[in-house]
Amino acid sequence: MTSSTNIVAGNWKMNTDVTSGVRLASSVAAGAVAVPGVQIIVAPPFVSLAAVRDALAGSSVGVAAQNVHAEDSGAFTGEIAPPMLVGLCDYVIIGHSERRQFFGETDESVGRKAAAALQHGLRPIVCVGETLDERESGRAVEVIRRQVVAALADLDPEAAGSLAIAYEPVWAIGTGRAATPDIADQIMGGAIGSTIAAVLGTDVASETPLLYGGSVNPANAAEFAAVPSINGALVGGASLDAATFLEVAAAF
Ligand code: PGA
Repeated sequence: MTSSTNIVAGNWKMNTDVTSGVRLASSVAAGAVAVPGVQIIVAPPFVSLAAVRDALAGSSVGVAAQNVHAEDSGAFTGEIAPPMLVGLCDYVIIGHSERRQFFGETDESVGRKAAAALQHGLRPIVCVGETLDERESGRAVEVIRRQVVAALADLDPEAAGSLAIAYEPVWAIGTGRAATPDIADQIMGGAIGSTIAAVLGTDVASETPLLYGGSVNPANAAEFAAVPSINGALVGGASLDAATFLEVAAAF
């Protein structure tokens, strides 16, 4: 991507309650003032979105949901529809590997969710990533291309400019074993960039921020930030402490 604003998003996963989430978000907002030029985002659980949004009012920190349903309403017990998120958050993480692995999300459902989010003005952060088995059998690029093609299949190219893609190798998530910057660059600058260009055109490809995720921490963030094809990070474990998360953000 050519824009100079990097994105650093904290995926809190199934951690924090409303009280601790508001506390964490407030600490992030207070520290974000010292990290200009980076779009910092926090992704709390659904139940905390309203309170976190209120705690962040007037700050530069954005809010993301961690998932969304593809339909606007209906008999889908326990699900949250895109129109329900409007006004609560600006971004939504879609297709995180934990959703794919534990909750049956498919390439196809990820594509439908991304299209539905965009239709409602929510900015999707679509996650893609290969498993260790897929990497070791030499299929990483093929898997990433397949996931990206499916994620973009239903998108309106006019709206696709507000999309971001996170490359999160499954073997690097929560393991302390981050990808090397070289591996991330091969996939992000290579497979992902060229696939977006093939599906949506070179303009959209050059505008789409690409985030690296998987064991990002203050010790390795600068190495990823130095790679031109990497426009930010999606941070899990290291986003649950404000000072640690802000250190990661400052590296970008
Ligand atoms: P991690 O998680 O930083 O704890 O590896 C990243 C993610 O799952 O988004």
